[in-house]
Amino acid sequence: MNIDLKPEDKGNILLVDDIPENLHLLSDLLTKRGYTVRSVTSGKMALKTVKVKHPDVILLDIKMPEMDGYQVCEVLKNDDNLRDIPVIFISALDDVFDKVKAFNSGGVDYVTKPFQVEEVVARLENQLTIQRQKRLLEAEVSQRRQTEEVLYQSRALLASILNSSLDGVAAMQAVRNPETGDIEDFRCLVVNPVIARVFQRNREDMIGKLVMKKFLSHIDPELFDQFVNVVETGEALERDFHYPSNNGYWYHFVAVKLGDGFSISIRDITSRKKIELALQEANQQLGLIANLDGLTKVGNRRCFNERIAREWQELTEKQQPLSLILFDIDYFKLYNDYYGHLAGDECLFKIAQLVSTLIRHQDINRPTDLVARYGGEEFVILLTNTDLSETVIVAARIQTAIRKLKIPHIQSQIQGIVTISLGIASVIPTLALTPDKLIGNADQALYQAKQQGRDRYCIYS
Ligand code: GH3
Ligand code: MG
Ligand code: MG
Repeated sequence: MNIDLKPEDKGNILLVDDIPENLHLLSDLLTKRGYTVRSVTSGKMALKTVKVKHPDVILLDIKMPEMDGYQVCEVLKNDDNLRDIPVIFISALDDVFDKVKAFNSGGVDYVTKPFQVEEVVARLENQLTIQRQKRLLEAEVSQRRQTEEVLYQSRALLASILNSSLDGVAAMQAVRNPETGDIEDFRCLVVNPVIARVFQRNREDMIGKLVMKKFLSHIDPELFDQFVNVVETGEALERDFHYPSNNGYWYHFVAVKLGDGFSISIRDITSRKKIELALQEANQQLGLIANLDGLTKVGNRRCFNERIAREWQELTEKQQPLSLILFDIDYFKLYNDYYGHLAGDECLFKIAQLVSTLIRHQDINRPTDLVARYGGEEFVILLTNTDLSETVIVAARIQTAIRKLKIPHIQSQIQGIVTISLGIASVIPTLALTPDKLIGNADQALYQAKQQGRDRYCIYS
């Protein structure tokens, strides 16, 4: 005997027959085959016992006193809890057995007495198999319902996250040319409210629509190609972009390949960006101030030092001339003594501004040259890629222009006006020399100009 076989596994059968011999016989046969069998001798007892424990199949005799099999079957079929239990009728050959009535009252099959055990078992097994399959199906349906519920809930969760997100979130699907396979546009699959606001559209007007190309063509047509690249290469794209509607918005976005398309999340960084830009501007202003001489508003010494070092390096490589004019106001101590320090300041400002304007003026038109205050009442003009003869012309023009200003200076021995002396030097920079060499040469030339009576330029030679 197979002890592993549990009686429950084979099926739980209820036998109903008013003749005990019939019950014993069938019960023995079925029990031997491993079924769990309960037997009762009347319809009433049958109805009581099925409620205690549902059998898998009922084998029901038709001809019984008080309540016949048809009546029992009808009661069962009218009870919601019991109607699913299959009923197989048993009829004696000599009974008047009405098959149509049997099926009408809810029976699923019948066997005739005397039994052929194999036939009874076969019919029983039929019903048990149907029962098992029905249960499996029910379990599957309930499983599916649970899965659907989980799916529905996770969709609802996702939708509420998307709807309440402060970032814009969207999913786009590539729309390809059927012949070439090239991406021609993107279709919006998912769009949350923030994205819709950016597009200034309703979500309903966007979902399923091809709006990307048109929208991007207004902002940044290059962006479309970049999104195509995300889909074609799988490389994510992350950058800031400026959207010029209503005073201009700044967004930071990340686009990641998703199927044959991409998902994108964007964040409004307008306020951060505005602070950044203001800071950048402030830094630029600071840079300018740091390089500007406070009194004369031309470049300061620091600015000059940086510039000459840079030019020196560049012109060393290019082997082109770098020239310098160093000029100094004549008898300026006397000017201060006589007119006062404030007037002296004003004179310095006027001269510096005049030279600065002249350099930019079309007459000289050398906007890349630098005018800087070297110190006190001394100024420099740095002329890149300029040879000596061109430099002399610039120096002469500046000298003349300052004379023409006719700033009164009655203490000066030169026509009672403010004049300057200039030293000119020029060199083709080399690695062996330093900018100090050029400055020193110009200084020597300036000294010479002073020695020779002032109000003139001298060239270092
Ligand atoms: P020289 O013709 O030989 O150049 O004679 P100078 O008097 O101009 O030269 P010196 O070096 O003896 O004097 C320069 C004067 O420039 C001294 C100083 O009072 C004046 N100075 C220097 N910086 C400033 C300034 O920022 N403002 C004013 N008002 N004067 C200044
Ligand atoms: Mg002087
Ligand atoms: Mg001086």
